[in-house]
Amino acid sequence: MARQLDSATRVALVERVRFYRDLGLTEFYRRPVDAALLAAEPELSAQPETPGAPGLASETWEPASQPALFADFQPANSHQEHPIPHSKSMPAPPEIAAAIPPASRAAALQLIREDIGDCTRCPLHTGRNKLVFGDGSPVARLMFVGEGPGADEDAQGLPFVGRAGQLLNNMIAAMGLRREEVYIANVVKCRPPGNRAPAPEEANTCSPFLFRQIDVIRPQVIVALGATAVTYLLGARQPLAGLRGRVHSVRGTQLIVTYHPAYLLRDPRQKKEAWADLQIAMRELGLKPPNRG
Ligand code: SF4
Repeated sequence: MARQLDSATRVALVERVRFYRDLGLTEFYRRPVDAALLAAEPELSAQPETPGAPGLASETWEPASQPALFADFQPANSHQEHPIPHSKSMPAPPEIAAAIPPASRAAALQLIREDIGDCTRCPLHTGRNKLVFGDGSPVARLMFVGEGPGADEDAQGLPFVGRAGQLLNNMIAAMGLRREEVYIANVVKCRPPGNRAPAPEEANTCSPFLFRQIDVIRPQVIVALGATAVTYLLGARQPLAGLRGRVHSVRGTQLIVTYHPAYLLRDPRQKKEAWADLQIAMRELGLKPPNRG
């Protein structure tokens, strides 16, 4: 008879699988259950979690190797990084649009927003409270691209304003920048229900608007936050681990890959890795970390 896991164990199991996915391990299999072993350990699922164990919710935080501004956070689990659903193929991205003079970029972004309108192009519109277009400088040298709005973003109509947004703000500050100097957008502009990953049909329907935003802003560097962002920016589903640590190219712009801030909240030990990724972006931008005297 199939054994039912309690909800806490199911959540921990899901997060553990996500953690392995983030490491690039995407193939999993189930071993047949050993009935004798199960009988000997009836409380297996009730064992306490190891503090800070990979992929498990943890309230521990080790700031030693982080920049000071990076260290101001307590982990939360409001929004997790998601596995990308399989899709047979991804549509080719639109042609790169002609460059727009810096003085006209704000108006060009407004035009894209007006084109989106009260969008019903994909099913995500049905659960939307506020459409989250993007936020920041139209002439930003650095752009961050995430997955999609969460509950806080859906309520406020702005990207990255929840706890993950708080962490992103501090990541930006650690780079010596202010949030107003960068541009932040997502692959989809409406909140997927239950913070699930956007379905390929949804992401493929919405991502052309993101590409248009990129073409207008023409940042020098894009930082893709998590697997969903990099999948739809590069047009290929690849393990995040294999993409980090080097400079890619998308729409004529350098692309750096790192973890989604929500994933860093779940597994703060990966902040050191994320900081290494951000340092690549800083190198490409010619930035030095601010002096914390
Ligand atoms: Fe339109 Fe994008 Fe919202 Fe879908 S997610 S309804 S395509 S704005």
